[in-house]
Amino acid sequence: MEDYMTNWNLSFDYAAIFFLLLIFIWYFNERKIPLRSHKAYLVLLITTFMSTFFEISATWMARYMDVVGYDSFYAVLTLQTLAINLVPITFTFYLLQLGHYDVLKHKAVHFFFRCCIAVNVIILTLNLKLRWAFTFEDGAYHVSYGCMVLYGIDVIMIGICIVTIIRSRVNFQFLRLGPLLFTLCFGIAAGVLQVLAYIPTVNLMVSAVCMTLFHYQQNAGTVTDMVTKQFNRRFMGEYLQNKFMENKTFGVIVVAMDDFKFINKTYGVENGDNLLYQVGYFLNELKVSKLVFRLGSDQFCLVIDKNLDQMSEIADQIRERFHHPWFTETQTPIMMSASLCFIECPSDAQSYDALIDVMDYSMSIAKKTKKGGITFARDLELSKIRQEKAIEKAVKLAMDRDELVVYYQPIFSVDKGVYNSAEALVRLHDSELGWISPEDFIPIAEKNGLIVEMGEIILEKVCKFIRDFKLSETTVEYIEINISPVQLVQLNFADRVKEILKKYDVRPQQINIEITETTTINSSVVVHDNINRLVDYGITLSLDDYGSGNANIDYINHMPFKLIKIDKYIIWDSFKNHKAGITLEYTIGMLNALELFIVAEGVENEEMKQRLAEVGCHYLQGWYYSKAVPEQEFIRLLNAQ
Ligand code: C2E
Ligand code: CA
Ligand code: CA
Repeated sequence: MEDYMTNWNLSFDYAAIFFLLLIFIWYFNERKIPLRSHKAYLVLLITTFMSTFFEISATWMARYMDVVGYDSFYAVLTLQTLAINLVPITFTFYLLQLGHYDVLKHKAVHFFFRCCIAVNVIILTLNLKLRWAFTFEDGAYHVSYGCMVLYGIDVIMIGICIVTIIRSRVNFQFLRLGPLLFTLCFGIAAGVLQVLAYIPTVNLMVSAVCMTLFHYQQNAGTVTDMVTKQFNRRFMGEYLQNKFMENKTFGVIVVAMDDFKFINKTYGVENGDNLLYQVGYFLNELKVSKLVFRLGSDQFCLVIDKNLDQMSEIADQIRERFHHPWFTETQTPIMMSASLCFIECPSDAQSYDALIDVMDYSMSIAKKTKKGGITFARDLELSKIRQEKAIEKAVKLAMDRDELVVYYQPIFSVDKGVYNSAEALVRLHDSELGWISPEDFIPIAEKNGLIVEMGEIILEKVCKFIRDFKLSETTVEYIEINISPVQLVQLNFADRVKEILKKYDVRPQQINIEITETTTINSSVVVHDNINRLVDYGITLSLDDYGSGNANIDYINHMPFKLIKIDKYIIWDSFKNHKAGITLEYTIGMLNALELFIVAEGVENEEMKQRLAEVGCHYLQGWYYSKAVPEQEFIRLLNAQ
């Protein structure tokens, strides 16, 4: 089949020009996205535009060959062939950037791309003389063997694209991958159509791909936060991941508004949004080379380039601004404060994931220690984050291998003179970290949600212990189990507890659950529902660590507690401090009057035992009697009574 260029239907190319011009207008009208892929996209747009422009020019020149002359026509045709062959190369280059593969950093790959372009240029330049790639005779376009090399490069590029899409599919995200693949398939089909049937649809299809890419990937709307008009958090991830690949030093400043919930509550969400917009605007106006991102609801993040010495200067400017009021839409002046955290990369964090951990950690320290102050990550013990990660790993491993162990600490009944109960305390030993305290790993398990599964494992172990060691035949009436607030907010928590008890034939009276004050303070409907259902079922409830929080009498009055466990630090204090001794005595008197049973924790010696029994504690728990011990040892303790 021969290709008579004068007959080419240019409608596709005109449409392509229209689309491309439209995208150019969008591209230059919108805010720049500071990523290398955004620049690579522009190169792709320009190449496609050139390819289309030369195709239209060459076709018209073919029609008016007599006027323009063969040589100039042939030169334009060569340029068109070059441009259209560069499209797959620039596209592949762009796709690699999009998949977080920095071509410019990998020298061999960079060289390969240069070679591909050079081969195109050499073959087509020599073709002007040698005619080994294509010829144009009698109004028709003939392909020769040299063109096969160019097609070969195209096929390689398609291969690289496919591999990139498969390897980096996570980065492209499913939503964006679907439309991209769809248009891409059409692009390849158009290429085949153009080569085999001489229908010039390639440029149109590539511009359709560009349009899809603009819509999903390159338009600033997808990376901008609508409230503050600054870059959004998703984009921050993309930007910083690229930034770490560049191997340069840069600074990150987190600006976290203090008590912003209060502003929202008092002045309304609309005013709150407006104030956040103002803060974002102010940060963006700071005169340094930086980018501003909205990190979370009331947090911003500045990424500072080049000169890290500017950091303290910026800190001063930000702090100075917060010494003056901000204004609501109705011109009400509002004083706000913000905590700042300074992080230097890569010295404080070597990767994006590490940076996020450092950000979270420094913000939590900043909020705890000095609201409105400045925290430098380099002054913090960042090893704590690593330690936390190591513990998290150890917890997962122990759960997978069923290596969590439950120890039992006996609780002495003053009335009966025997151990009438015990507290179940979880123990974890890791081959690398050794024994890990529950005080360290429980909060981590709560943060990542593992506590729900862990709590069930512990409950099962306790029930199995009660059944296998026939605890009902000993002096121990029930076992106290610590329950985390995270477990109590699970909708099916009460049902799961009942199921496990039934599975091991354990009566509800043999179980007591301990919850802390903080659980009751933050209690939701679900928490109350779970508690009430368990109490109705027959399980008793203890308030743990009483006195360590803000001992709110209201909760004692309105929750179905049977036991109150007084925090060991309160007990210890009462022996050291006269006033603390008096408050404890009156607290015990009050709890007794309320007909609540009292457990004193942390009983460490004879003197403590005597006094606490005298002032009215019903149960005593502490190292004076025994530390928490393994099952067998606990049974030996009971037998030795
Ligand atoms: P907690 O519920 O207040 O548990 C009492 C803690 O005090 C235990 O520490 C216990 O070993 C310790 N203790 C008891 N008597 C004495 C004493 O006389 N002197 C001293 N110095 N310490 C004493 P442990 O086992 O390290 O547990 C720490 C915390 O970890 C517990 O505090 C509890 O909040 C949590 N925890 C332990 N096991 C579990 C569990 O199975 N589930 C949940 N959710 N939390 C648990
Ligand atoms: Ca406890
Ligand atoms: Ca306690």
